Amino acid sequence: MRIIAFLKYMPVGHHVMLLLAVCAIGAALLLAPHTPDAPRASTPTPAPVGDSDINREQADPGATPLNRPTRYSLRSGDTLSAIFSAQGFSQHILQQILAADEELLALDVLRPGNSLVFHVDESDQTLKAMELQLHPGYRIEYRRVNHTSFEFEEFVSPSTWQRQVITGNIQGSFYVSAQQAGLSDADILKAQQILGERLNFNRDIRPGDHFDIVVGHQISEEGPTGQTRLEGIRLLRGNKVESAFLHTDSNYYDANGESLSRAFLRYPTEARYRISSAFNLRRLHPVTGRIAPHHGVDFAMPIGTPILSTGDGVIRRVGNHPFAGRYIEIEHNGQFKTRYLHLSRVLVNNGQQVKRGERIALSGNTGRSTGPHLHFELHVGNRPVDPIKAEIPTATRIAKAEMPVFTQKVRALLVAMDGSALHLARHAETAQSNSEDDS
Ligand SMILES: [Zn+2]
Repeated sequence: MRIIAFLKYMPVGHHVMLLLAVCAIGAALLLAPHTPDAPRASTPTPAPVGDSDINREQADPGATPLNRPTRYSLRSGDTLSAIFSAQGFSQHILQQILAADEELLALDVLRPGNSLVFHVDESDQTLKAMELQLHPGYRIEYRRVNHTSFEFEEFVSPSTWQRQVITGNIQGSFYVSAQQAGLSDADILKAQQILGERLNFNRDIRPGDHFDIVVGHQISEEGPTGQTRLEGIRLLRGNKVESAFLHTDSNYYDANGESLSRAFLRYPTEARYRISSAFNLRRLHPVTGRIAPHHGVDFAMPIGTPILSTGDGVIRRVGNHPFAGRYIEIEHNGQFKTRYLHLSRVLVNNGQQVKRGERIALSGNTGRSTGPHLHFELHVGNRPVDPIKAEIPTATRIAKAEMPVFTQKVRALLVAMDGSALHLARHAETAQSNSEDDS
């Protein structure tokens, strides 16, 4: 406040200098070295930027105001390291939290709009918990277990899916037409991936072709989460129809129940390797005795073993994490994800398309690893599952017993699409008769 008032009375040339000085102070704060494990300073730390909706009244007037939870809303360009420094927590504590995040890797992809809430112990001023709020209905709490480690707990609110039908005609590319009709970039890519085995979106789509896409928007008890899923896609190309419908197994099938994706590989390597640690959501930590889930399966293998993508997909993350080491995340058909950790070498780039069986990396022993191994994860609908036991797309058709349920869903989606298509057709007719009047 004082700086702003001061600026008003300064000649223009000085504004720049003062701003530079302010920037330098900011930079110094971010770069200041921190003593490991130091309790939070009792002098006021820089006020957290962003909303602070938690303004608990201090019951004891003698208590320091630092005991309130503080919320920090992430902005573009933020780094965890800088946020921790600005909040007065050491890089050492950040490392302890990152260790707890190894099975989630949630702190590795923070986006503007996510927020962090810091809870400080009133007695000794140490960080006792940090919450990460990714979107309404999903938050993760990292809680201190002892003075060397944290553990995580996920909180997922019940949610439902609200349908939206997006419909349009091809003018130019599918990408441009779908974007104009209101489909997000991410969902356009997903649609192309889902129907990718049936047609080539660059070659097979012509002006005048028609598309109907049913997008599900996730609504949690706390409001829309911003997450979407494609429930149905239909492309009318001349008198040909291509369609894809999401089944309860998270895979996509055409209207006849034929799978649209090629079979997944069960194992991400050519040879089979010994499982050194199995998938286990209730694994007990050997030291703390508390539940420390293992979200993947560990295969012991020599460093440099070629790692294969278990399905067709798009590289969504290439990271280097202090505990997970070099790692890759691949998205397959929108509903499946795979992760490969502790790699020695990554052979792909972010955003790259890969095929099932394609060599994506060489195994290693990077990050916190007790020996050369690959940690492999499979996620279905954003939840980790046991890659050894899970049902994976097998490139066949829906089982006979499940067909009635599937057919019923397809019918409902087609009715929704036809409702919109009819509306659009009437609209087009009106437009055409108007233009005829003009000629
Ligand atoms: Zn593992």
